[in-house]
Amino acid sequence: MSRSCEKVTDIFGMNVFSDATMRERLPRNIYKLFRETIDERKPLDLSVANVIANAMKDWAIEKGATHFCHWFQPMTGLTAEKHDAFISPTSDGRTIMEFSGKELIKGEPDASSFPSGGLRATFEARGYTAWDCTSPVFVKEDGNNITLYIPCAFCSYTGEALDKKTPLLKSMEALDKQATRVLHLLGTKTRHVTATLGPEQEYFLVDRSFYEKRLDLVLTGRTLFGAPSPRGQEMEDHYFGTLHERVANFMYEINHELWKLGVSAKTQHNEVAPAQYELAPVFATVNVATDHNQLVMETMQKVAVRHNLVCLLHEKPFSGVNGSGKHNNWSMVTDDGVNLLDPGETPHDNMVFLVFLCAVIRAVDKYAKLLRASVANTGNDHRLGANEAPPAIVSIFLGDQLTDIFDQLASGPAKSSKKGGILKLGASTLPPLAKDTTDRNRTSPFAFTGNKFEFRMVGSSQSTAGPMFTLNTIVADVLMEIADELEKSKEVKAAAMKILHRIANDHNRIVFNGDNYSEDWVKEASRRGLPNFRSTVESLSTILEKDNVAVYHRHSVLSPTELHARVEVFFENYSKAILIEAKTMLTMAKRQIMAAAVQYLGRLASSLAAVTSAGASSETLSTKIGAVDGMIKSLAESIEGLDSAVVKAISTGGAEKKAFVCHDLVVEAMKKLRSVADTLETVVDADLWPLPTYAEMLFLK
Ligand code: ADP
Ligand code: MG
Repeated sequence: MSRSCEKVTDIFGMNVFSDATMRERLPRNIYKLFRETIDERKPLDLSVANVIANAMKDWAIEKGATHFCHWFQPMTGLTAEKHDAFISPTSDGRTIMEFSGKELIKGEPDASSFPSGGLRATFEARGYTAWDCTSPVFVKEDGNNITLYIPCAFCSYTGEALDKKTPLLKSMEALDKQATRVLHLLGTKTRHVTATLGPEQEYFLVDRSFYEKRLDLVLTGRTLFGAPSPRGQEMEDHYFGTLHERVANFMYEINHELWKLGVSAKTQHNEVAPAQYELAPVFATVNVATDHNQLVMETMQKVAVRHNLVCLLHEKPFSGVNGSGKHNNWSMVTDDGVNLLDPGETPHDNMVFLVFLCAVIRAVDKYAKLLRASVANTGNDHRLGANEAPPAIVSIFLGDQLTDIFDQLASGPAKSSKKGGILKLGASTLPPLAKDTTDRNRTSPFAFTGNKFEFRMVGSSQSTAGPMFTLNTIVADVLMEIADELEKSKEVKAAAMKILHRIANDHNRIVFNGDNYSEDWVKEASRRGLPNFRSTVESLSTILEKDNVAVYHRHSVLSPTELHARVEVFFENYSKAILIEAKTMLTMAKRQIMAAAVQYLGRLASSLAAVTSAGASSETLSTKIGAVDGMIKSLAESIEGLDSAVVKAISTGGAEKKAFVCHDLVVEAMKKLRSVADTLETVVDADLWPLPTYAEMLFLK
């Protein structure tokens, strides 16, 4: 893409059927009715939908669109879409372009070909998509294909949610309801509360030519083999380093593509690992932010290819250097714009803030296992607790000021708030800096960062929907307890104080401001009784504990049936991902690595033969031949080991059982095979090694 002269303010949102566009294009009464649907959470009338659909179609056709699609988020964690042309043939052999309200609000994709955890059998195909009118429709350009995208929820014929969006929307309603109850009891006139999300997205870029030579990257998104590069991230020179021109061009283009779609891409920089980067948008309502994050991930991959790069969104594409996360910055905002997690100048006497803060603390402690499970996937198994990302133990960083207040609350009302003060840098030309009330702690999985919480355990490839609907639901649940208690009390302020006091005493254990990467913390957390589930399979098994099923059910976010089905899908997804990795490893090991090793052995043998026929002898060569032959033997054995682990896993019935076999046998056999192959990589002649190395891939120029 050449540099465009377009002004950012002109292109921003140009492909979105935004609020401003609607106001301009819809009859005044229709626009008003539509706004009521959004602002008052009222159902949308079909007659209104008809008018909106027509205006949308005209707008989209002006943009060059020929098709529309319902765009939804099945349990794959990715998005799905089926395109239909606007055409409606007439009897005289021509066509008109049509789009009805019915087509806008409802679609009927085949539900049996998406993961359903047993909710849909192959013959029970019917499913529905329904327009999520709280997330704006947009036009997307893919090559010459221009399509109107309609963000949707997806459910089965029998009404169960088959996607990530439906529970997210329901959790937002639950949070809205309970938060508003609490606020009314505390004396405010708030009408609605919305959860907000700003997801910081980490990713890697590798040269496309290397990528294409690696079946593991192509099929699994991560390297399954690869000896460490002599240089890794030890120089600490990549984080915030100068952007390489090729990468800067990629970023330039991605920003422009995203801005057109109304995605407010704002921050970009080099990350800690070589070849690793980050993009963060300005936060938005949690469901819009979730849609936007899907667009971010998709656009990154699309744009990278135009630069002969490939964007890797896997949580751990390279072992030995940092993996990628997706830091979910989350808060709650009222309809009149008050951020409920904004401490203000004197948080100790800000009752609304303290109640919401303590509600989050109690929710995170009480449902730590659910939060952990919401970020469980095969990629995160390599990342969490690997000394570069938060461990699998959920804890909260509050920082100096709030920890002090939380401690005060444990013994009575809080009486004071620590101040940040002014930082003088010493040189008279440098300005004095207002100091934050709290330092940062980048090792914490759930950190208070000024006026929001940052949930950092989320994996880079994950949809933000799962972690966010979990967080919304558990916070809604604690707010419900609080509202129930306040409703019964005669003296609301005293009752609220009592609640804060109780939470400060009961949930002290979840607050940890130290180094989450340290071994000491793992021991300390265990003393405190905090759960630590290192692997996906162990963590998934906790989702169906009684309290966890009940909390989703209580707030109508997921029924027990839906939750059971979801857990089934998670276990299935785990096994599928592991088995794909294992089979990819086997293919590479047998057809590339073994081949290279044998060829190398042959080369050594010919050299020895040449030396011998020249009447000389070489002990070094003979020893080396023996050593390489030994490695080939280990390679063959570990191939066999993985082969039989795979056979065992495939023949194991039951989603959970199969997943455990994958974890206990297949993953272990994969580790063994990798270790032998990686050693061979350090021995075999470079010209014979069939795979691009870590050094080549990570130090992109
Ligand atoms: P840092 O984490 O480095 O301080 P920022 O202040 O830029 O970075 O914030 C990171 C992300 O948090 C951004 O996406 C930002 O829009 C988002 N964010 C800021 N305020 C809120 C909020 N109230 N709710 C949700 N996300 C927020
Ligand atoms: Mg951050």
